[in-house]
Amino acid sequence: MENYIETEHRRQNMRVQRRNRYFTIGYICCLLVIALAAGFLVEKEKAAQEVSNTKQEGTTSDVPNLTLPIEEQPQVTKKGLINNEFLTLVNPWHAITGENEVKLAELSNGYLVDERCYQDLQNMMDDCRASGMTPVICSAYRTHQKQETLFNNQMNAYIAQGYSEEDARTETAKSIAVPGTSEHELGLALDIVDYNYQLLNEGQEDTPTQKWLMENSWKYGFILRYPNDKSEITGIIYEPWHYRYVGKTAAAEIFEMGVCLEEYLEE
Ligand SMILES: [Zn+2]
Repeated sequence: MENYIETEHRRQNMRVQRRNRYFTIGYICCLLVIALAAGFLVEKEKAAQEVSNTKQEGTTSDVPNLTLPIEEQPQVTKKGLINNEFLTLVNPWHAITGENEVKLAELSNGYLVDERCYQDLQNMMDDCRASGMTPVICSAYRTHQKQETLFNNQMNAYIAQGYSEEDARTETAKSIAVPGTSEHELGLALDIVDYNYQLLNEGQEDTPTQKWLMENSWKYGFILRYPNDKSEITGIIYEPWHYRYVGKTAAAEIFEMGVCLEEYLEE
């Protein structure tokens, strides 16, 4: 009898222990589920935060730094940054005045450019070549003296052909900028031709290199500076080889609007 009670008692104990064990396991499972759910929510929140951070980073580079005092904030219009240092207008009516100090970078062929457009130029040339084209830079930065020599040589050639000095000057100015009025003195202009057609004439526009450059140069901040239908406004004949660096924002707008630099700056 005693044995039976003892056994029964033990059984009861075991039942209680088993119930307790189930309860504990259940409790731990509940805690685990809660912990997992909390962890998931935190991760999700973190991911959302990262996405919004990335978005902010992507847009802040295009807008002015709003922490600047108002008078120091660059003025933004449809034309981009209006006080853009790359939009200096140089043409027959706007000569470079005073000292023009340019920090120069040397290209692999020895030509020099304003160092601020060097990387974009390099990228444009690399991509142009990667597309199967054969671009050759045949002129870049020119000193004032170099421009003068070029101008005088051409003028003398006209005089040798029988032109009067005045007519020779007028004729020369149609293809070579009067010293002081050449963008090449800025270090932001380049003459680029096709390796298989190294002539500075209208035939240049039909070369694969020019077709590529006319279509893509704006992506790198360069514009075809003297388009065919703008000679009256630019004062320079059609030059399907002369590219001018104006920065990517302005170049994209000028390309999209189909205007020349003079028109763009007057808008
Ligand atoms: Zn040129």
